[in-house]
Amino acid sequence: MQIGSCTYCSKNALVIHRKYSGEFLCKECFVHSIEKNIYKTISKYKMLKPGDNIVVAISGGKDSITLLYNLMKIQEQNYQSKPLIALTIDEGIENYRKNSIKNASDFCKNYGITHKIITFREKIGKTLDEIVSLKKNSDDYQNACNYCATLRRRILNDGAKELGADVLAMGHNLTDIAETFLMNILFKRFQLIANQYPFKQGNNNINKFFIKKISPLMRIPEEEIFLYSNLKNLNHNPSHCPYREKDPILRKRVLDFIQECKKYSPEIEFNLFNGFLEMSELFYNQHEQKNYSFCEICGYPCGNSRICLYCNYKKEFNM
Ligand code: SF4
Ligand SMILES: [Zn+2]
Ligand SMILES: [Zn+2]
Repeated sequence: MQIGSCTYCSKNALVIHRKYSGEFLCKECFVHSIEKNIYKTISKYKMLKPGDNIVVAISGGKDSITLLYNLMKIQEQNYQSKPLIALTIDEGIENYRKNSIKNASDFCKNYGITHKIITFREKIGKTLDEIVSLKKNSDDYQNACNYCATLRRRILNDGAKELGADVLAMGHNLTDIAETFLMNILFKRFQLIANQYPFKQGNNNINKFFIKKISPLMRIPEEEIFLYSNLKNLNHNPSHCPYREKDPILRKRVLDFIQECKKYSPEIEFNLFNGFLEMSELFYNQHEQKNYSFCEICGYPCGNSRICLYCNYKKEFNM
């Protein structure tokens, strides 16, 4: 922040310099620009319809709290649909999850939002910590994040379905999307990029299993959400998951690399984001799988395997 003149209201004040756009914004104009960005993203990409039943995935961190707060306002003012429901997945990560869940619960209590918590233990039979200690010395150890992401994705989807969701809102920001896209390029995961195409129509045989996901923060860099949540005094939990640091995951290095590039090319995340939109559409049209197998255990679509990864993990962790 520095003293200067705001690009929008011309006020001489403490201003935030947005290097990627050249704008200088006073606090009020900055807050307004973030809220407008979220609203415009929802309407530009037709993310919501009046009357949609929206479940918001909330971890208690800055992104999900910002998302929930803004969706609440947008719902009240523009869509007037059913009240939001917040859904938290408790993976069972010591010294981390408890604090962020308390944060999520306090926020929901304050604003009168129904809050549902589902645990790995009740769905998988084990916490993530227990899964990691069970697997960490085996040759096929996959890193905590791989287990966590696969299991959480399914539990979130099923939880939202049980709550009657039409839409599951996720707190992914621009930085998350840029990082994931670059990771998928590095690992040549073209099918995954195709699957992540945000505007796919899909076919009804597959769609009936998955709740439509939306990411209204997808055009806002991570540090701006951090700043916004501080300026708005949205209480969030600033701690980081210990596995992100503990496991030598490439994701963290990819993020560091993007942050380094940003110093010289501030627009780099937007380039990656636009690249993701274009490439995922292309890959989706090319790689769209016409023939799926369905998991023999849970019945979900699972590419060409007999049993999906979620059920495989579940079996493996309970042997
Ligand atoms: S950092 Fe990894 S282990 Fe931690 S919550 Fe995220 S995906 Fe799960
Ligand atoms: Zn201003
Ligand atoms: Zn299955």
